[in-house]
Amino acid sequence: MLSTSGLRYRYRQGPYESTPFELVARDLAVAAGTTLAIVGPSGCGKSTLLSLLAGERVPTAGEVRFGDVRVSALSDAERRRFRIMTVGLVFQEFRLLDYLSVLDNILLPCRLHPALPLDDRMRRRAHDLAERLGIGALVTRPPQRLSHGERQRVAVARGLLAKPKLLLADEPTGNLDPVGKRRLLDELLALATDDGAAVIVATHDHGLLSAFHQVYDFAAADAEVA
Ligand code: ADP
Ligand code: MG
Repeated sequence: MLSTSGLRYRYRQGPYESTPFELVARDLAVAAGTTLAIVGPSGCGKSTLLSLLAGERVPTAGEVRFGDVRVSALSDAERRRFRIMTVGLVFQEFRLLDYLSVLDNILLPCRLHPALPLDDRMRRRAHDLAERLGIGALVTRPPQRLSHGERQRVAVARGLLAKPKLLLADEPTGNLDPVGKRRLLDELLALATDDGAAVIVATHDHGLLSAFHQVYDFAAADAEVA
């Protein structure tokens, strides 16, 4: 179970800004096997909130807990290990590497941390995810020879590789047609929750919200805080 309390994050002031952005987040709780959408317009703080939940950034105030772990109180090294072992990430801009094949892009988390070794079980898992996401025939290609929608599927497969207990996806269905969006989202949610993950997806697309158990709406959060 992921939960937050009193979460705030203020970016450091740059040389050319008067007031840096401050995120003030309503408390949230997401149980294993359930899904939450984070919705709000561009610039409202969705990606910032996800980076706090992933342990990439440390809150200025409040805390993030995952089960018994106070993520926001861990050291940098412990947070990195938490991220690789517990969290699957699907990034907004995919972060695929053009010099690696689709398969090696899916397996990339194994190259980033010794706690997640690249073995035959992982290779089988990568192939299996590629099949289930409809890109099984494309695994030897470099990502620049894929369509946008296919690249999105590679990013989803990578996020799911290590059977994460927490899957965080940042606008994973952007730039798809409405039918394609809903199909990829349903596949992502089913694959992740089948393995018992808690899933959090940032989106600015209100048309997708019926797919989720819970919705965190930044507009409602602002009204509450004001
Ligand atoms: P969203 O994902 O909802 O579009 P973000 O979380 O990316 O919103 O951004 C929220 C606000 O934080 C924006 O005003 C943005 O300009 C600001 N911001 C994002 N990243 C940084 C950063 N690295 N330094 C300073 N401000 C940032
Ligand atoms: Mg964003």
